[in-house]
Formats: sequence, C-alpha cells, structure tokens
Amino acid sequence: MSEQPIVRAESLRKSFSGPSRGIGRGRAELRAVDGVSLAVMPGETLGLVGESGCGKSTLGRLLLRLQDPTGGRVYFEGQDITGLSQTALRPFRSKMQIIFQDPYSSLNPRMTVRAALSEALRVHGKVSSASEEEQRIAALLERVGLRPEHMRRYPHEFSGGQRQRIGIARALAVSPSFIVADEPVSALDVSIQAQIVNLLRDLQEELGLSYLFIAHDLHVVEHVSRRVAVMYLGRVVELATSEQIYARPRHPYTQALLSAAPEPDPTAHQHRLLLKGDVPSPLDPPSGCAFHPRCPIAQKGLCDREVPALRAIESGHEVACHLAH
Ligand code: SF4
Repeated sequence: MSEQPIVRAESLRKSFSGPSRGIGRGRAELRAVDGVSLAVMPGETLGLVGESGCGKSTLGRLLLRLQDPTGGRVYFEGQDITGLSQTALRPFRSKMQIIFQDPYSSLNPRMTVRAALSEALRVHGKVSSASEEEQRIAALLERVGLRPEHMRRYPHEFSGGQRQRIGIARALAVSPSFIVADEPVSALDVSIQAQIVNLLRDLQEELGLSYLFIAHDLHVVEHVSRRVAVMYLGRVVELATSEQIYARPRHPYTQALLSAAPEPDPTAHQHRLLLKGDVPSPLDPPSGCAFHPRCPIAQKGLCDREVPALRAIESGHEVACHLAH
C-alpha cells in the first residue's frame, strides 16, 4: 500500500445556519462536521459509523466536494481541491463517485438504464460512438451481476437489490478510484445486503477501488473495512483498525454502539450497554465532551467542561475520551 492517501481531510468543518432553540434567540450555527481529520489509503475501505444526524453523510459529500466546507482542507491524491471551482474540479469528478442509500430516488424513473448509464459515460467523455457505448454499458451491467438486456428497462422494473446494482454500475461507468458508499445497504433486506457488500468487495479487489463506507450499524462495516472511524455529533471519537475496534473498543460511545447492534451469533453472550436518551441537537450541543449527557462513566467537572482531543492510545488506534486508556 502506497503512503500517499487517495483522499485526506484536514480539520474539515461544515456549518449551517438554523433557527436557535428558544424564543427570540434568532439563528444558531449547526456544526454538521466539526474539525474532522482522516485519510483513506489506496485500495482500502474506511468504515464511517454513527447514528443518524452525526454528520457522516455530510463528511462524505465534503470529501467529494459535492458540498463546500466552511473550514479545513480536502486533498485528493495529494492535491488540495478545497478551493477549486466546479470547472477546475471536472478532471477529479470522474475519479470520485458516490453510491446512494436509495438508488431509486437517484435514478430518473423516465430514463432507461441505458440512458442513465450513457449520460454518465458521455458527460465524462468515456465513449466515442453508439456501439462503443452499448458495449460499455453491457459490460458494466454484467460486472455488477445484471444482464445486458436489462439496459432497456426502467428503474421500477427492478428489485431494490438490482437497483443498487444499477447505482453501482453508474458509479463505475466513469472508472473512479474512490467511491463514497453512503449507507449502500441500509434500505435492503438482510439477505440482499450480503450480496451487495460482497459485490463491492469483489469490485474493490478487481479494480483497486478505495471506499468510504458509511453505515449506522457497526456490524455492516465489520467485514469490509480495514479501518473504522466512529462519529458523534460532527466529530470522530474513535478511529482504529477493524481488529482493534471490534476486539476492544475504547470509547464508551463505540462500546454502546457495538452492544446495541444485533449480535450475528445468537448464542454469543453479550453485555448490553444501553445508550441513555437521544442524540442532542447539533444546534445546541452539550458543553465539554458532547457525549457526556449519555455517557455511563462521565466525570463531573471534567467531561462536562473540557472537549477531549483525538489522541493515539496505541499504534493505529485513536480515541477522543478523557478516561480511555
Ligand atoms: Fe464519557 Fe467523559 Fe469519555 Fe466523554 S470524555 S466519552 S463523557 S468518559
């Protein structure tokens, strides 16, 4: 594995302005992504996990420059792409793609599969004739486990799993090297989830792809990720290899997420650590460690006052918690 990350975020921030809680308080700043630094290496899958609204999808879109950050920097293959205009970003667009949770909403219901894929191919100048286009589309469909004749069908004629395969084919059409897979299996039946995860893994091996694999369930990313980052209220609170995080999670939030997720082996004994309350509003985040109102081991006077920094506790394992060791 080369040392240069394919994509790297440095103190990345994204704020939105929203109505403040309470009467007459005007507007408040919503920090969707609050100073995130991480890197995805060539050929690796970095899992990104957290509850809904923790900022993981926003982070994925910032890395692809589908949204503009309010602070920090994004590097793609070592080049700073943070301030690039849409025109200057064009050469990078075909190298960076996204797969959505719900491919149905991202596919035009009036477009055949062929039209949807040819649009991607043409925009990026990947084909020069109609026959070449047809061949490319047929090959793409076969590569994702569909048949060439499927190109003449419309999205509503496919099952959820097949539609996700079309979404994957569309992302692959432009020969990307980095893909943000944004909850790609969350809307699918469990039996289909495994098929899509295996397809993504096979494509990674075959094409040398790098993924940011976003999920709210730690078990979904367990078998595909080399490393996992856990996000809470806009920040990465734990980042480690899969082996480290599943064998010995250090952050109380990661421990709670792991014990809340259904255990694939029903005979396994599991100590359940239940999370108290809901995720606080990012418009009015708690002081100090944002997790302290829900944390079973929070220490008064420390956790409610001081924001813990992400620090290395062993090689390749970082955690943002005052008490983790
Ligand atoms: Fe819990 Fe304190 Fe660690 Fe935050 S810093 S996770 S509140 S122990």
